[in-house]
Amino acid sequence: MIVGIDAGGTLIKVAYTENGSLHFIKYPIAEIERVAAWINELENPTICVTGGKSGVLRSLININSKEMVEFDATHLGVQYLLDRMGRSEDVYVVTNVGTGTSIHCIQNNMQERLGGTGVGGGTLVGLSHLLAGVTDYEEIVALASKGSRDRIDLKVKHIYEGKEPPISGELTASNFGNDLFCVAGELSKEELLATVVGLVGETVSTVSVLAARQCASSTIIYIGSSFIHNPLLKEVVESYTVLRGATPLFLENGEFSGAVGAMISLK
Ligand code: ATP
Ligand code: MG
Repeated sequence: MIVGIDAGGTLIKVAYTENGSLHFIKYPIAEIERVAAWINELENPTICVTGGKSGVLRSLININSKEMVEFDATHLGVQYLLDRMGRSEDVYVVTNVGTGTSIHCIQNNMQERLGGTGVGGGTLVGLSHLLAGVTDYEEIVALASKGSRDRIDLKVKHIYEGKEPPISGELTASNFGNDLFCVAGELSKEELLATVVGLVGETVSTVSVLAARQCASSTIIYIGSSFIHNPLLKEVVESYTVLRGATPLFLENGEFSGAVGAMISLK
């Protein structure tokens, strides 16, 4: 069995091939010992580990394993998953919305990290907990998709009263910037969570669009577990990216890019 593992800040992603077919599984990072126990019971596996918690995982397994730099593993995995979707891109940006967000330019088959933002999936979960008391990820994304941001976000058109704004009035001028004092007590969980998703999605796509200019590319490939079961985040990111003239692509199984890259490196 050939196994690639990406042990990230929130989730452990596992990709493995057995009898020629590819499998994906993920676990919360709190279950790292369970993953280690699974590996320790495999017969003659070949393993490569990546991600911020790769050292922790390697210390728990009693089988020789290879380690790989996360960004290189992700690049390799993205190329493989693109190919699987029948796509090929020469120059593109990869935005990995994990616990935090990391942005990379891929050119001439080389990856360069352009930067990132601390606003990511961890922000989504953390702010949802603080603002609405919801902690379960699936519940957060389900409630968010039913909410409206209208009473919480301030749009450009709200500032430009009585005159034409120089940019689209529908753009967000300030996330959570509306006059909240009179409505704070009556806002629903759905409204608050939708606005948190808006904040994360607009931040991530704004930074990605700027990065795409630096990379001289118009394609932005979005990956990371923050998009799982999260159609609202996809919608926010897609519409903002398109509005700014770039082309978004959500990679199928993109959250497994690092694990797939680690696995491929062994072949
Ligand atoms: P990093 O790369 O920053 O070290 P990571 O690799 O663990 O972190 P991902 O797995 O790509 O990051 O994404 C983690 C995010 O995915 C979480 O912050 C959360 O928003 C979202 N998420 C999706 N499914 C779950 C889940 N079942 N439990 C918790 N968070 C989830
Ligand atoms: Mg990660």
